[in-house]
Amino acid sequence: MSSTTAYVGLGSNLEHPETQLRSALEALASHPRIEVMAKSSFYRNPPMGPQAQPDFLNAVVQIETDLGPEELFDVLVGIENAHGRMRQVERWGPRTLDLDLLVYDEEIIETERLTVPHPGIPDRSFVLKPLAEIAPELVIPGMGSVQHLLEDCDTYWMEAISDGAG
Ligand code: ATP
Ligand code: CA
Ligand code: CA
Repeated sequence: MSSTTAYVGLGSNLEHPETQLRSALEALASHPRIEVMAKSSFYRNPPMGPQAQPDFLNAVVQIETDLGPEELFDVLVGIENAHGRMRQVERWGPRTLDLDLLVYDEEIIETERLTVPHPGIPDRSFVLKPLAEIAPELVIPGMGSVQHLLEDCDTYWMEAISDGAG
């Protein structure tokens, strides 16, 4: 298959986050048109936005796929839904599983449902730290290298709690 490299960010803070992330990784790996190339460790992070919710567990995966960006996004939403993701009014509220399409090849996408690269990347050490672990040389289209972005981002509280590959 003619495949494209993409990066997906995973997050969970409900219903046993570690189990959620492992199950999401399995769902990605078992998809016939997705190959998981690299998995970061799992990182525990304080919530973004509303503070009255549990800490998050976050990770990033590198995949190869012949799915287009919209098709890939549909798969991600399907996996979220299969993990009991409820859509809430409150932004950045608690969730069983969040899968964000961080980077899709060198594409810059601006549609109603999809902005790629994900605009939150430069401000989010919970994305940059795991990304640097699996793709230290990556240059994000329109944003720059992961290394530089990480240097400009606050990471003092990052804690890797388990090996995602394990
Ligand atoms: P954030 O996107 O800031 O991390 P969130 O993950 O909590 O916040 P969601 O409620 O999961 O936000 O998604 C809100 C909307 O973001 C979705 O309707 C989706 O269409 C849109 N979206 C745009 N670009 C992306 C992307 N690259 N990855 C995932 N969702 C995206
Ligand atoms: Ca998100
Ligand atoms: Ca999301």
